[in-house]
Amino acid sequence: MINEPATLYIVVPCYNESEVFPITAPALTELLKDMIQNKKVSTKSRIFFVDDGSRDNTWELIAAEHSVNSYVSGLKLAGNVGHQNALLAGLLTAADKSDITVSIDADLQDDTKAIIEMVDKYYEGFDIVYGVRSSRKKDSFFKRTTAQGFYKLMNMMGVKTVYNHADFRLMSARAVAHLKNYKERNLFLRGIVPLIGYKTTSVYYERSKRVAGESKYPLKKMLSFAFDGITSFSIKPISLILALGIIIIFCSIVAAVYSLIAYFCGNTVPGWTSLMLSIWFLGGVQLVSVGLIGQYIGKIYIESKERPRYNLEMFLTDEETINEEIQNNQ
Ligand code: UDP
Ligand code: MG
Repeated sequence: MINEPATLYIVVPCYNESEVFPITAPALTELLKDMIQNKKVSTKSRIFFVDDGSRDNTWELIAAEHSVNSYVSGLKLAGNVGHQNALLAGLLTAADKSDITVSIDADLQDDTKAIIEMVDKYYEGFDIVYGVRSSRKKDSFFKRTTAQGFYKLMNMMGVKTVYNHADFRLMSARAVAHLKNYKERNLFLRGIVPLIGYKTTSVYYERSKRVAGESKYPLKKMLSFAFDGITSFSIKPISLILALGIIIIFCSIVAAVYSLIAYFCGNTVPGWTSLMLSIWFLGGVQLVSVGLIGQYIGKIYIESKERPRYNLEMFLTDEETINEEIQNNQ
């Protein structure tokens, strides 16, 4: 282990979590206390609650806890911006004060013990450690099937995500700092984090039920999250339109042969052949045209995100200061 233990910030986004907070705060405090005592993390480490514009008294609870519990720190967002944005706000704020961040949901569905393992991995040299569910036995059948369908669909659409990983993960401060370079509004962190690079690994844990309160992701929100995830990362749906157009033009050739044979055999009503040919052919031409225009729009869309093209990690050179510059410039 490194001589000086690293400073850890456990970032917990909270939206209307007053039911769960009285359970979460002591559980995480206990864990952090142990880690500090075992010199795994520094005494400056904190549990960092981010209130995402809750309408209940979540913020009052966080503030009250902060005044009596020195391990707890808090951040209040002025309004509700959603889980992903709240998490980003928390991570970026925490990264200025810490060496490592771990993001975890407020409902304790994720095994807090896995945080210890994640920190061990950090000392082994990993910058990003994903918490991955080893099984979904405790999820309802509905949640399990929809969630797994979601990962499969994302994969098919060419979005690289870590299977069965939600937003429970460790990130080093330099990995979080690189997140700043992703300026997009439609934030889908699970898709962005794998793009950062660095050495990454996973730890496995059993995910349990929410300890209290209700899920903030009902079906409607889950679907829009999935749609957001795909459309924020992939222009494959546009390519599908183009492919469909080409297939239909091909079909129109087959239809042309068929209609002409029917015409010459004489068993058609007047006008049918020309109608058939135009419908198929024009349909195909239209789809190909839309698909082609779409390809350009897709390119504009990718350019408009202004995502970083690379992330420098190390530069072997004679000047010793250069690596520090790389860190500071990102
Ligand atoms: N959350 C948030 N802002 C929102 C919705 C949710 O910060 O607008 C937080 C919520 O408090 C929780 C986490 O995001 O800590 C995940 O939400 P939830 O547990 O309800 O999702 P599920 O586990 O059911 O998918
Ligand atoms: Mg949950």
